[in-house]
Amino acid sequence: MREPLVIRGEHTNQEIDDIVQGILSAVGFDESILAKYPHMFSGGQKQRIVLARALVLRPEVLICDEPVSALDVSVQAQILNLLVDLQKKFNLTYLFISHDLHVVKWVSHQVYVMYLGQIVEHATKATLFANPAHPYSDLLLESTPHLGQAPPNILRSDDIHSLLKGGSHCAFSERCSSRTERCLAEAPSLEAFATKHEVRCFNPRRPSLVGEKVGLL
Ligand code: SF4
Repeated sequence: MREPLVIRGEHTNQEIDDIVQGILSAVGFDESILAKYPHMFSGGQKQRIVLARALVLRPEVLICDEPVSALDVSVQAQILNLLVDLQKKFNLTYLFISHDLHVVKWVSHQVYVMYLGQIVEHATKATLFANPAHPYSDLLLESTPHLGQAPPNILRSDDIHSLLKGGSHCAFSERCSSRTERCLAEAPSLEAFATKHEVRCFNPRRPSLVGEKVGLL
């Protein structure tokens, strides 16, 4: 945690100690952890240390790639709450990458849905979860597991096949229920659909009155 500050060369040793102490305190530790080795920490503690290490140079943007996917659910909640607190405290922007829609809903303000390497929809969290416009986003939200129900298998081998085929067509066309002739002859681009809402689709779904696809945590 000290090393980036030492390399930057802008602080005295005492100032570096104070900065490290402040960041450790922000993620819920006291200085006693500085005498411990990595194997002495739990997975959640290690994740908090990684966060502290990332924050020590006071970045404006943090890229968090599946930051809680390896943790137990109860520890996930602690880390997510900590992330939300740190965002407010340090005025951070997160680029948060996740396959877990509940997690996305908890931490996000703007959501980008990706399919086979392309952004297919961008919307505010409220819009995306209430009224997904791209057929894939719709299917993704439908796939959210519920107690007692097996989620549908949403990625078929056809999808990979359609990508490998290349050519000018929508990458989602082989499994899209809204497909038209145009979808097979032309690749859609990401275009404005409504205010703060972009969709890569020739036949985006119109807002419904059905409400949220994924309930609150
Ligand atoms: S462009 Fe056509 S095939 Fe692709 S998602 Fe939209 S409706 Fe479906």
